[in-house]
Amino acid sequence: MREVHHFIGGKVVSGQSGRFGDIYNPNTGEVQARVALATEAELDAAVAAARAALPAWAATNPQRRARVMFEFKRLVEANMNELAHLLSSEHGKVIADSKGDVQRGLDVVEFACGVPHLLKGEYTEGAGPGIDVFSMRQALGVCAGITPFNFPAMIPCWMAAVAIACGNTFILKPSEKDPSVPMRLAELMLEAGAPAGVLNVVNGDKVAVDAILKHSDIKAVSFVGSSDIAQYVYSTGAANGKRVQAMGGAKNHGIIMPDADMDQAVKDIVGAAYGSAGERCMALPVAVTVGKKTGDEFVARMIDAARGLKVGISTDKDAHYGPVVSAQHKAKIENYIQMGVDEGAKLLLDGRGHTLQGHENGFFVGPSLFDNVKPGMRSYQEEIFGPVLQVVRAESLEEAAALATNHQYGNGCAIFTSNGRAAREFAAQVNVGMVGINVPIPVPVAYHTFGGWKRSAFGDTNQHGPEGIKFWTKIKTVTQRWPDGDVGDQAFVIPTMG
Ligand code: NAD
Repeated sequence: MREVHHFIGGKVVSGQSGRFGDIYNPNTGEVQARVALATEAELDAAVAAARAALPAWAATNPQRRARVMFEFKRLVEANMNELAHLLSSEHGKVIADSKGDVQRGLDVVEFACGVPHLLKGEYTEGAGPGIDVFSMRQALGVCAGITPFNFPAMIPCWMAAVAIACGNTFILKPSEKDPSVPMRLAELMLEAGAPAGVLNVVNGDKVAVDAILKHSDIKAVSFVGSSDIAQYVYSTGAANGKRVQAMGGAKNHGIIMPDADMDQAVKDIVGAAYGSAGERCMALPVAVTVGKKTGDEFVARMIDAARGLKVGISTDKDAHYGPVVSAQHKAKIENYIQMGVDEGAKLLLDGRGHTLQGHENGFFVGPSLFDNVKPGMRSYQEEIFGPVLQVVRAESLEEAAALATNHQYGNGCAIFTSNGRAAREFAAQVNVGMVGINVPIPVPVAYHTFGGWKRSAFGDTNQHGPEGIKFWTKIKTVTQRWPDGDVGDQAFVIPTMG
């Protein structure tokens, strides 16, 4: 059986723990490979490799580091097909979505190609007599990233591309469910010219994560995953003196106003709720309709739209979405559907027990649709992370916006309307990190910045964009003077208010 190990110091290193995790083929339900789960000593070895590579890499001028990113981008593009198929085979998303996953990662690599410009500091000439002040952004040192299963190409690139372009060396701990694409990305980074030890991959579970969180040589940790783990990573990493950003779960609301273009809203929301089997942190699993007429029309049309979706294996070109990632996750989604029924929501489409001929053991869940979901229900309050859309009825925009604002998660939300003023007011007031106006999945482009609020993110710096550069560097400010001759005339005077 195929085995996935670690990538340390520029080569594949066999795991020695004797512990392995299963990697499934979600289309068939079979174990297709196994991944070595690292010990603390194996994490130490990766840190040692990253430390050894650090001085030379941090001293490499930013333009040369950018050239490595340009070449990495070229290589990933050249291998797009292979990467997309590998990704689909372990994750279950359809090939078009896997290509999107890789492409969104490349968008961040492209952003990182601008690092010479992005690292430029600020300069004030003549801040005092003969005195200039300037700032510089310097690499932090050895850094780490811990990533979830649902974007195994994009999220490693969010972290590693920016951190490495800034002059850090890096240890990636990918999800143990689909670690093969992150391993390939590390190989391609080496091939692109990043010296051995600049990007290392340590596969593993909680043991590897805890080893990262307590290692004194790791200066910063970026995490993306579910909220309870995000909070744990944030608090443990910070207690150990690290800079930490930790993105968590989500429950994004889409508000449909009576003046929305209903054709567009239904088309957008069917893709945003069910695409990638709902396993996106920016999916739209809650639709809040404003007014009875809007609600009735939306629900009637959504039933047809969701029924029209084709669930298929990940290589089926006609499938809208594929299986979910694991049997355990399928069971969790189906439990939430039962919970919704028990709580009194109206189940209009039931995706439980969905089977595909010839793939009876695959992890498929059909599109599910609930109406009359109420804010007090646990199935509404918690993240389901599957192809389940919950419709909540509201009477006014204020009531709808309050639902998004008061929810424990605050990753993204969207409003569908033709009223610019209402949209503007909503965007300004809602207590959520990323807002779409007639845009169902408002993932910011790479040169802006990605991050939620409330229990969707711990720490105060977002992913990529200018915030990413800030997270992966520390700022130093220099005040200089070059006295010439008579020092007395140029005595340094601290400026006062007077
Ligand atoms: P997860 O929290 O189970 O795993 C994330 C990472 O944490 C993995 O690398 C995993 O190995 C590690 N991990 C798991 N259990 C751990 C433990 N007990 N202690 C330490 N480390 C542990 O998340 P997942 O199921 O892989 O991904 C789905 C979740 O990620 C969803 O909640 C989704 O909303 C979230 N997500 C958030 C964003 C965002 O930007 N906010 C983006 C993508 C996914």
